[in-house]
Amino acid sequence: MAGAQPEAATPEATGFEDLSDSEFLDFLELGDIEELGNQPGSSVRSPKKQVNSEGPKKRKREADVPTPMERFHLKCLWVTDLATQSWCEQQMVYGKELPGFQSSEKAAVLDTGASIHLARELELHDLVSIQTSSKEDSWAVKLLNILSMVPILQSGGTIREFPVFGEVEGVFLVGVIDELHYTSKGQLELAELKTRRRPMMPLEAQKEKDRFQVSLYKYIFDAMVRGQVTSASLVCHMKLSPEVLLGPEVRNHARQGGFTVKSFGDLLEISFLSLTLSDLPVIDALKIEYSHQETGTVLGTEMVVFEEKQVKDKLQHILGTGQDSGKPGSGLKEAWKCRTCDYAEICQWRKMVG
Ligand code: SF4
Repeated sequence: MAGAQPEAATPEATGFEDLSDSEFLDFLELGDIEELGNQPGSSVRSPKKQVNSEGPKKRKREADVPTPMERFHLKCLWVTDLATQSWCEQQMVYGKELPGFQSSEKAAVLDTGASIHLARELELHDLVSIQTSSKEDSWAVKLLNILSMVPILQSGGTIREFPVFGEVEGVFLVGVIDELHYTSKGQLELAELKTRRRPMMPLEAQKEKDRFQVSLYKYIFDAMVRGQVTSASLVCHMKLSPEVLLGPEVRNHARQGGFTVKSFGDLLEISFLSLTLSDLPVIDALKIEYSHQETGTVLGTEMVVFEEKQVKDKLQHILGTGQDSGKPGSGLKEAWKCRTCDYAEICQWRKMVG
């Protein structure tokens, strides 16, 4: 630990950034106003009736069409990937197929949001850069961050940018929780910050996506502290090798945190023991705070009621594993989302229905 503040590590040279994944969704606010345009009496593009009403969601449920996981050989999905998919599956596919295909306006919104999150993180701990040279090193950095934050949470403190991961419905999900703290009643509360370009609350579709996102975080965090996420599952899904020796900077950072480790397996063992023996509570409350990027004004706060069955049903629906996977989707009624989508000009589904 350096100075009075604890440290969180960020891996270098791997592209596996640990910065909050929460901001990736917020660019969707640019499309919110279009939902208003879909009210009775307004003029929006209406998809033709003869086109299958399932729109882009239909594709994944066809047995001969590979899922995005299969198509892109993904070992895991970010929680934000799933939330995007609940918005529009085709958009998530384009996001994977065409990385960097994004308007400069949306990129600026993301950059500002990321900077705000980083500033908040730095309020609680310093960041140190760690040179990594393998995927095991990158995961080791994640585990070391968890190891440094668990005692803070155990002693009633506040932590930010907590990594979560685990298998859900056969898919390995990863994410980063914005903030965990205890309320005055002693409840463990997850607080998710959503920054907005315009000084107004999002509309219902965006809020629903945000609720799904924080519910998934709780689902995974609770499984982690209950010991339901195993090191074997992590190793298997992410194709990691426990025998790989950790890089010198990673070992050094571990030593500074009080852990003498050589291999990735050494750190795995310590991390999972720490998590399961920590006796951390599950998350009691989910809060989403919306604030204006420019002024920092709080626009509103939402408390989310966690409905485990709904979250599981939605997950199964998105992943195409549930009994309801064949039910009609919402493609037609949500065609307004296409109007400000970056991929609108090239989107095949939009061309079919436009
Ligand atoms: S244009 Fe519409 S259907 Fe196509 S990716 Fe964008 S939101 Fe989805």
